[in-house]
Amino acid sequence: MPGKINVLEKAVSERIAAGEVVNNPASVVKELVENSVDAGATNITIEIERGGKGLIRVIDNGEGIEAEDIQRAFLRHATSKISSAQDLDRLCTLGFRGEALASVAAISMVSLTTRTRTSISGTVYSLEGGRETEYRETGCPEGTCIEVRELFYNTPARLEFLKTDSYEASLVSDIVTRLALSKPDISFRLTSNGRVLLNTPGSGSLRDVLAAVYGRDTLENMLPVKCEGQGIIINGFISKPHGARSNRGMQTFFVNGRYIRSKIITQALEEAYRTLLMVNRYPVALLNIALDTGVIDINVHPSKLEIRFREEARIRSFTYNCIRTNLERGRWIAPGIIKGTHSSALPQTVHRQWSPSGSTQTHGDEGQNYRLSEETIEYNRIEMDNIIEGDNGKIPYMKIVGQFMSTFLLAEGEECVYIIDQHAAHERIMYEQLTEDIIKGGAASQKLLEPLVIDMGPVELEMLRANTKQLSAIGFEMEEFGTNSIAVRAVPVYFGKPQSAEFLSDLAAGLSRQNEISHDGLKQDEIIKRACKKAVKANQRLSEQEMQSLLEQLRKAKMPYSCPHGRPVFIALTRYELEKMFKRIV
Ligand code: ADP
Ligand code: MG
Repeated sequence: MPGKINVLEKAVSERIAAGEVVNNPASVVKELVENSVDAGATNITIEIERGGKGLIRVIDNGEGIEAEDIQRAFLRHATSKISSAQDLDRLCTLGFRGEALASVAAISMVSLTTRTRTSISGTVYSLEGGRETEYRETGCPEGTCIEVRELFYNTPARLEFLKTDSYEASLVSDIVTRLALSKPDISFRLTSNGRVLLNTPGSGSLRDVLAAVYGRDTLENMLPVKCEGQGIIINGFISKPHGARSNRGMQTFFVNGRYIRSKIITQALEEAYRTLLMVNRYPVALLNIALDTGVIDINVHPSKLEIRFREEARIRSFTYNCIRTNLERGRWIAPGIIKGTHSSALPQTVHRQWSPSGSTQTHGDEGQNYRLSEETIEYNRIEMDNIIEGDNGKIPYMKIVGQFMSTFLLAEGEECVYIIDQHAAHERIMYEQLTEDIIKGGAASQKLLEPLVIDMGPVELEMLRANTKQLSAIGFEMEEFGTNSIAVRAVPVYFGKPQSAEFLSDLAAGLSRQNEISHDGLKQDEIIKRACKKAVKANQRLSEQEMQSLLEQLRKAKMPYSCPHGRPVFIALTRYELEKMFKRIV
């Protein structure tokens, strides 16, 4: 039988993005695991020792390599995955460069044991620094086991470049995690010096992989997303805002099943969380993006970690809209107690769906597993029979009990008590209203009987100049007056109350302190946020009617759960949690 692996013609290999594929143990693991995936494996075991410097062993149950192909597999540009330049435009496999085995073999001691389903016996093939040392028949299970020992043993300069064993092991774990997330139907097992770091079931459910990788608690704080249109399909999971992290380490994107890094997707994702996260908080996300192979170019980066989108703007806006829509639909009142384990022993009443609308269509074929995880506590799915008229169904039924500390409202729900931060609530309402007014053509503004003259320094004045347009959009009318002062002619009106012009001098002073001068000034959104913050009064006693009206307005908000700076508006304490605290249940 003729072999499957061929050395690419020069004309084809020259078209493949040049560059070294192997620079650390993680990059070796990535290449080897991708080969196992391409070979159709359903079980992949990865074992490393000394962070992968001593040993990397990848065992799969894939299709194996024909005996006569083995030597060729280690030649440069030898691959079974493509044969012509046109194939580069319609890649379905993770590999295609035909360089990994050759590159790895050149700088380590490699031993490959493999058997295809149809052959009676397997083959062992070993090399040292790229030179063959062994080639013989052996008995072995179907599939491939490849061992890479003493990475960079013959290139001491590159060996020196490696970091500590534990750091290199963490990079290996990171890449295996992402590969595992990209293939829920493959079971991955990673051990480092014999210790299990990762074990995924290979059940085909993304929920199961997420739970195995990030834990049940993280999964509980995620919302499923699914969008389709314009030749793009996105599905996956994103965190509820309170599930955000302090770095981007838990953002993973796949395009057509391939793990990639992408500024465009990252930006679209984070833009969609605007006003929902505090500073330096980043959403957790796992997004599978399926596109026509013709609109991406994978052949731009040696490790294929970056790809080129032919229509960046379309991908960006589709991704943004998909995530934003799913967030607007989602429900996520923050838990009052963020603790390690959620109880599955919760009384049945709390498990019932809060409101079935909105999220059902996003489950898709994950429905089966979705039901499973509902057995654990979910603050965002609390029974809601009493939906109030005109309300968008985001906030469950609650009755206000009262105000305390002139700062918080206490409300009673069916199986929960809620605490509302009146300041945050107010800011959110005002933010949404002001934004809408500006979109509709301008916020309400009131002329002053006499212009108010404010003196300021030259830098402060410059700050205001840069923001004139944005300030006029929120309702300030002003002009320069003399050398170092401005005359304010009109101020914004929020909820029927004219605002003070003090905001202008505070803004100018704040910006000049931060040295934030920029030609175009701040983003409109930033000005709105600052104006809202300023307009809302802390420590204010509210009448019963004012409390009621605050809650009613909140019910109409698109994103009622956080203030525009990302702080929570509500927290919920369930009966179960209260009973736990009072030791009624142990
Ligand atoms: P590429 O993956 O780009 O084709 P590699 O150098 O990684 O190049 O691998 C060369 C060839 O060796 C592959 O095309 C494939 O035919 C074969 N091969 C490598 N690893 C495996 C494996 N685990 N199972 C089956 N075949 C494999
Ligand atoms: Mg490969």
